[in-house]
Amino acid sequence: MSRIAFTKPYQTGLESEYFREALASGVWQGDGGFTARATSWLETYTGAPHALLTTSCTHALELAAMLLRLGPGDEVIVPSFTFTSTATAVAIRGAVPVFVDIDPVTLNVDPALVEAAITANTRAIFVVHYGGIAADMPALLSIARRHGLEVVEDNAHALGASLDGKHLGTFGALATQSWHATKNIACGEGGALLINDSSLLERAEVIREKGTNRAHFLRGAIDKYTWVDQGSSYLPSDLLAAVLMAQLERFEEIQSLRHRVWNRYSSDLQDWAIQHGVGTMSVRPGVSHPAHMFYLMMPSPKDQAGLITHLAKQDIVAVFHYQPLDSAPAGLELGYTPEPCGVTADAAARLVRLPLHGGLTDGDLDRVLSAVTSYAPLS
Ligand SMILES: *Cc1c(COP(=O)(O)O)cnc(C)c1O
Repeated sequence: MSRIAFTKPYQTGLESEYFREALASGVWQGDGGFTARATSWLETYTGAPHALLTTSCTHALELAAMLLRLGPGDEVIVPSFTFTSTATAVAIRGAVPVFVDIDPVTLNVDPALVEAAITANTRAIFVVHYGGIAADMPALLSIARRHGLEVVEDNAHALGASLDGKHLGTFGALATQSWHATKNIACGEGGALLINDSSLLERAEVIREKGTNRAHFLRGAIDKYTWVDQGSSYLPSDLLAAVLMAQLERFEEIQSLRHRVWNRYSSDLQDWAIQHGVGTMSVRPGVSHPAHMFYLMMPSPKDQAGLITHLAKQDIVAVFHYQPLDSAPAGLELGYTPEPCGVTADAAARLVRLPLHGGLTDGDLDRVLSAVTSYAPLS
């Protein structure tokens, strides 16, 4: 019996062809032909007016923080239930991530708690669409508008997802994508910044290119380029952009393989879940999700460990997710938590994610399903 991996990059077959093409082109640095193609694919697909490829989603978040001129004295509201990068991007600028709790149904930031956490120092809200299921963007945007705050979407899970027909990643002024090997679309390590507020484009290009106006120079807008602002090196190699482009071009294929897994879990675990008081993912009307993850909310922390161990014994890898940032050592030191994040702590202690990737066969799925349904929760 072979191991069923929790996640595995899906190879369409086109990656090696495009990679060889990029190698042969001699353009190995950033902003070559594959970067241009991937950028334009992202803009066309999502409807975001501008996209910039970056070296990771973490770097895209850092770029966003620099673009918004976040710094000491500023506060940024982030969910406690997220990956560290959403908070480190704020903290690295010397600003304070302010942790708020999540909604128990979507596991996304709770707009009422966001509003309650706003102070005179609040500058922005960094929103995460957990599992690619949309956060309550109408409520969050209206709060942001009323208080003059910027909205950044950490869209790492949500390429291909939408809310009322509008792509996630196009609601905030800025949004970030990840092409990490564990995400739906992968090139190993990589990311992108979606820029919905066009007034931010020019400075974003400068920051991404080591503080220079090289991008404008390459367009022929100026005759030499120079150091004009803050910056870093956030361009991915065009070799990686080639792998990314192969995946984007096969986006529908990758997505349909993932949806096949998600739909099977959702339908075949329903009876078992109801019988044992296990929560499953809820997709409300108007929400279209990208099959990034499938999780179960076990009745108790004991059952989280119990199910993970039960599956491990059958060589199936299932995992828990985000440990709360508000109570993490760096969260305590660098962040601020106005109200206890009880829903986050509870979700972190009970959630189990099942294997989900395009390479799972029907036989693998049969095995996972029968292993899960042979587990009887203790509580
Ligand atoms: C994966 C992930 C990131 C980090 O992405 P990288 O590309 O690895 O930097 C950030 N936020 C969320 C919500 C993620 O899932």
